[in-house]
Amino acid sequence: MANLEEILVSEQVLQVPYSYSAGPVASRFLLALKEEKKIYGIWCAACNKVYVPPRATCGQCQAEIKDWVPLSGQGRVESFAVVHYAESIQPLPPPYVIAVIKLDGADTGFTHLLGEVDEKKLKIGLKVEPVFARERKGHILDIRYFKPI
Ligand SMILES: [Zn+2]
Repeated sequence: MANLEEILVSEQVLQVPYSYSAGPVASRFLLALKEEKKIYGIWCAACNKVYVPPRATCGQCQAEIKDWVPLSGQGRVESFAVVHYAESIQPLPPPYVIAVIKLDGADTGFTHLLGEVDEKKLKIGLKVEPVFARERKGHILDIRYFKPI
């Protein structure tokens, strides 16, 4: 006989619209995507390290960093995954490829989408370049994806 006195816990997903302030460093980065179709890194002189995406303080020496470095946008795939499952927060319907890209002139990996790529030709070290959205909003998806060169 079923226990009808049990207390059930139901797992649900709550989706809430929100706005957030990107702050001065991320704002400059995102506005350059929007206005210039250009990817900038930020350089720590003490460590001689270029961060992309940029950050306000160096992850190694904790110094405040303000020196912007324009990058070509080209880089190489350091790792990747082919996504085959769907979640409401994902940027694209599956399947799609997400990758960590080391941009030329940067010392950190930049996570973004790959497009126009044959999954069979995916490999570490694949040379890629950004494809910008026609209409840009100051959002990370102003870069639609990176494609093989
Ligand atoms: Zn540093």
